[in-house]
Amino acid sequence: MKKIAILGAMEEEITPLLAKLSNIKETHYAGNIFYQAVFQDKELIIAYSQIGKVNASITATLLIEKFGTEILLFSGVAGALSPSLAIGDILIANKLCQYDVDITAFGHAHGKIPGSEVFSTCDSKLINLALETAQELNLKVSQGTIATADKFLSGNNTQEREFIINEFKADAVEMEGAAVSYICNRLNIPCLIIRTISDTADSEAHLDFNEFLNSSAKISANYIFNILDKI
Ligand code: SAH
Repeated sequence: MKKIAILGAMEEEITPLLAKLSNIKETHYAGNIFYQAVFQDKELIIAYSQIGKVNASITATLLIEKFGTEILLFSGVAGALSPSLAIGDILIANKLCQYDVDITAFGHAHGKIPGSEVFSTCDSKLINLALETAQELNLKVSQGTIATADKFLSGNNTQEREFIINEFKADAVEMEGAAVSYICNRLNIPCLIIRTISDTADSEAHLDFNEFLNSSAKISANYIFNILDKI
């Protein structure tokens, strides 16, 4: 049976996934709960990492190295930067960067760490399956760039918002994606990162986030479940 992980950052992001499963086995490890269940002909391992790049890194690595994940899917919410993304819209990440990496003092580009590229990537075959699924469901989705940092981008960061758009041409911001895709790229695990917009990373971001977290998380989780049919 193929082992497929579905990772979220917050509990709210994986609750709609767990609701679709039965006979769930729980393993507690490193401050995480790993939920295992068989679905169709697949073994699913579901977890929420808790917020931020470090937490996402531990959990993604454990999913791969300890639980034998062969394909990793991420389901969650993000703040939109692109004016063409509204709350509730689905974004498929095709490349991701860590926008808070800054060793420009040594002449490196923003987001660049010597020995690795500015952008990590999601698997093109999985992206195509996601696009096919969207077409069949008549679901509007777009592909784009995600910028990740250990920061909730809100109205207090107007200049930073402009910087991220100009420097990385990013369409959305969140706090885990680039860490997850980086680890999957390094460990040769195909990954797919789906984010539904919960806010527009502006002065209302914290209010919108609280209002739309659950509904946006559910949109993302339902979509991921439909993509699973094709894997
Ligand atoms: N309400 C939470 C904190 C949420 S942090 C609490 O108090 O515990 C925001 C989470 O949603 C992160 O996991 C991040 O990946 C995503 N996210 C949504 N909108 C974001 C934004 N505008 N900036 C950064 N991350 C955002």
